[in-house]
Amino acid sequence: MTTSALKIDGVNQVFDSPNGRQVVALNGIDIIVESGEFVSIVGASGSGKSTLLRIISGLLQPTNGQVLIDGQRVRGPGMDRALVFQRDSLLPWKTVIDNVAYGLTLRGVRIVEARRTVQRFIDVAGLGGFEHHYPHQLSGGMRQRANVARAMAVDPKILMLDEPFASLDSQTREIMQAELLRIWEATRKTVLMITHQIDEAVLLSDRVIVFSARPGKVKRSIPVSFERPRSLSLKRSPEFTALVDEIWQLIEDEVRASLSD
Ligand code: ADP
Ligand code: MG
Repeated sequence: MTTSALKIDGVNQVFDSPNGRQVVALNGIDIIVESGEFVSIVGASGSGKSTLLRIISGLLQPTNGQVLIDGQRVRGPGMDRALVFQRDSLLPWKTVIDNVAYGLTLRGVRIVEARRTVQRFIDVAGLGGFEHHYPHQLSGGMRQRANVARAMAVDPKILMLDEPFASLDSQTREIMQAELLRIWEATRKTVLMITHQIDEAVLLSDRVIVFSARPGKVKRSIPVSFERPRSLSLKRSPEFTALVDEIWQLIEDEVRASLSD
């Protein structure tokens, strides 16, 4: 039997809310992600998507169920997983290259060697020539690329992205989608991404998982079989639009349900 890169096995999450009632954030989540697969999760706000990434990160123990990475149960945070948020978490007093190298230095790699190792990720992220810039000297899109490069530089088994481009303007976001597509096609990491943009999910993913509104549950898992390499122009094809529409219809009711509580 082969082990999957990521197995989420019967995960439930219940929170105590300030008014004394309990909030069921996740209800019986079973997800398997194979090695090298790019999977996205879409769903209404409050459907437990970020909570699931916190559980996979080991920052939160699920109320029930378990998460396995390469067959090993997650018991806490670890270097085998990297999480990228909407806002970059670059250190403002460090240059781009030292930010990208930071995770390796935390592991005890000497800075000179770490800089050498991460140059490839700087180049893949299209930041060649900006190694010695500080975060405030970069555009929002470049900062977020440096942030992704930093996550990839520690060579995680699983890269998780939580609405990574949500704070960018729509043109920068489109460019970042193409960049992430290119970076992923060059590295073939196992990726789990959360996004509100259905077209972003379809463009990038091998599979899109639709969550139902709270409590979050897997409503449907939809394979995306467009050939790779893909480019932004795929978004203009009728097959692409049809798939985006199909997914949007699946979540429309869920979004409405979540707005009415
Ligand atoms: P999403 O990322 O899909 O928008 P979240 O995972 O952030 O959803 O939240 C899911 C639900 O769990 C929401 O109702 C949220 O208020 C609740 N929640 C998240 N974290 C906590 C917490 N630490 N304590 C109590 N409730 C929480
Ligand atoms: Mg969230």
